[in-house]
Amino acid sequence: MTPNGIICEQDGAQVALDPASAVPGAASFVSHAHADHLPAGSGPVICSAETRAIAALRGTELGPDADPGPARMVDAGHILGSRGLVFGDVFYTGDICTRDRGFLRGARPPRCRVLVTESTFGAPGFSFPPVREVRDRANQIISEMYARGVPVVLMGHGLGKAQTLTDLFGHWDPLYLHDGVHAMNELHRSLGVDLPAGIPYSEASRRGLLARRPWVMVCPMLPSRSPLVRELRSVYGAVTIAFTGWAASPGRPDTPPVGRGADHVLPLSDHCDRDELLDLARRTGAEEAYVTHGFEEDLAAALADMGVRARPLGAARGRQTARTRTRRRGRSPSS
Ligand SMILES: [Zn+2]
Repeated sequence: MTPNGIICEQDGAQVALDPASAVPGAASFVSHAHADHLPAGSGPVICSAETRAIAALRGTELGPDADPGPARMVDAGHILGSRGLVFGDVFYTGDICTRDRGFLRGARPPRCRVLVTESTFGAPGFSFPPVREVRDRANQIISEMYARGVPVVLMGHGLGKAQTLTDLFGHWDPLYLHDGVHAMNELHRSLGVDLPAGIPYSEASRRGLLARRPWVMVCPMLPSRSPLVRELRSVYGAVTIAFTGWAASPGRPDTPPVGRGADHVLPLSDHCDRDELLDLARRTGAEEAYVTHGFEEDLAAALADMGVRARPLGAARGRQTARTRTRRRGRSPSS
């Protein structure tokens, strides 16, 4: 563990795992394109083609492809293009989800001796309901609103959740998309994901379509005080539904407030919940684990109870600790 993140070394080969900035002499593994996983600088990287394309859309040109050497990427099921890394007998998860959601398939963890795992929802009490329950509940709300002519705004992280929401609820007509979500969806479509097209907000607004209610719009996770949400509520009477894993919070004081003022908040996450993280560790057969990115002490203690030699990594000073604090304050980009 270094102030720049985790560096993994085996048999003379070195790889930096989601480093804050490129490390001289080492390839950087970039697990996915959420902002808190993109490195500064332009060193060689190991990443998926989708991660490179999504990063470019968001203004980050990643360095040239590195020779992966003994490293091998596996699908992490977190967002499009997200990968974990198998490096010798080590498996690093990046952000990971083992549940199917919309077009995303859950990760199939590989066998390893040493597991380096995220722990965003690794505290006791974080348990996510089946995706179909969340989908049914949201469809029920939308259906009731449509019967009254009331538009509905669906909100989730603009990269990952918003595309899943488009996939799960794209059958509602008409379907409008925040302009940023529209751009990200179009990139997904160009990469082969079969999402419904939808009309961008700016076009719908210009053509006066929003006055014809009801409608559904997919937006990033915006606070209720944001100008757009205020407009959608006050001018069109829209109801808002926020989708976040934090909605499953067991009420700990160190978890962020959920929903940012939305009318409804439903638990839908692009991460594993606590039991899924423990099951992930079981399936890898790991003897040793290093826990990062979240409730590190809680998950490490549970893994130790399972007989895994586990330790939290956040105790080391540096970016991981900063990320942990950030996540607990509720600014997680990928909840
Ligand atoms: Zn992420």
